[in-house]
Amino acid sequence: MASDDDYGARLTVDLDALVENWRSCRAMSGNARCAAVVKADAYGLGAVHAVDALYEAGCRDFFVATAREGAELRPHAPDGRIYVMNCMLPGIETICRTAELVPVLASMEQVAWWSAHCIEMDDHPCALQVDTGMNRLGVTVEEALELANDVARPAGFAPVLVMSHLASSDEPNHPQNTDQLERFRRVADAFDGVEASLAASAGILLGPDFHFDLTRPGIALYGGRAANQGDTPLRMVAAAEARIMTIRQARAGETVSYGATVELARDSRIAVCSIGYADGYLRSVSGSGVPLRDVIENGARGWINGQAAPVLGRVTMDITAFDVTDLPAGSVAAGDFIELFGPNIPVDEVADAAGTIGYEVLTSLGKRYCRHYIRPQSGPSGDG
Ligand SMILES: *Cc1c(COP(=O)(O)O)cnc(C)c1O
Repeated sequence: MASDDDYGARLTVDLDALVENWRSCRAMSGNARCAAVVKADAYGLGAVHAVDALYEAGCRDFFVATAREGAELRPHAPDGRIYVMNCMLPGIETICRTAELVPVLASMEQVAWWSAHCIEMDDHPCALQVDTGMNRLGVTVEEALELANDVARPAGFAPVLVMSHLASSDEPNHPQNTDQLERFRRVADAFDGVEASLAASAGILLGPDFHFDLTRPGIALYGGRAANQGDTPLRMVAAAEARIMTIRQARAGETVSYGATVELARDSRIAVCSIGYADGYLRSVSGSGVPLRDVIENGARGWINGQAAPVLGRVTMDITAFDVTDLPAGSVAAGDFIELFGPNIPVDEVADAAGTIGYEVLTSLGKRYCRHYIRPQSGPSGDG
């Protein structure tokens, strides 16, 4: 394992678990193929590592947000299909050609641009995003049906996939789910012979009707909670830990961190750790002194030596204090690591304390972690 002696924090990414989660998503997707959404550096965990592992496991469909993300990943998925969901046309034509990326066209304007480009430059696959209720990206259902039924479809417009995105799939009983399904089915039927994709992680859980030809899980691969109800049945992938810099003793009545927002009720032992909001340990998880604590009582907890240790006072840019008074004296020391999330603290618990979602916690992690990747078969190893 690479030495992390001089790092204040470390992030361990279990690529074995990632692959297993992808296989689980694939199994839950029934007859559909299962893609992997690896945008935003694979939700902050390292897209190159994730794609290497998933490609090795047989995944051949990848979704990124930007063309630049796609180009970076191209060498890692040699014959894989890489879809670019944030289509910017004009602009990304060249990079889509050189890196063989599939732009997901999201408006009639983009369809026209892309078609004109392909007439001029030669055919190149594209995908079509259809808006079925999100009001974000996509041509309308009517526009899509018109395109599908137009025998004189714009020359150069040759979609290999039609897709749409569910707005409320994290709430299984939300009426919008079947609403969107209904609309999307009309489009999928009209584009006979073109693959169709509707479900992200939570959509997979809605059942076979939602699976079509290709599913697009992201958060479930990374061990985050996909639906609002129930636990994610998948494996934990990422563990973040911070180093204890010093243990201090403080007296009852004293205060901790900026704003003196916590007054100690007892003589306390405080683990002062090298982690802060610059590392994605969001300020909103503070134990006190942030507006969120008026609504959600408790801030985040760390985990050390089999016990929880609550955040004391405000999280600052680089430093956070944890209350380790309840741990046996001598059981924690400077240099030890405290778990921020991982095997004992689900990433979604941290997210809940911050009033946000696991997605935001993961994508906020930042650059200061010593990153360890546990690879399929090959066991633990340091970051190359
Ligand atoms: C991010 C995204 C996904 C993946 O969503 P998860 O909830 O992380 O599974 C799928 N499709 C689209 C269009 C997305 O933007």
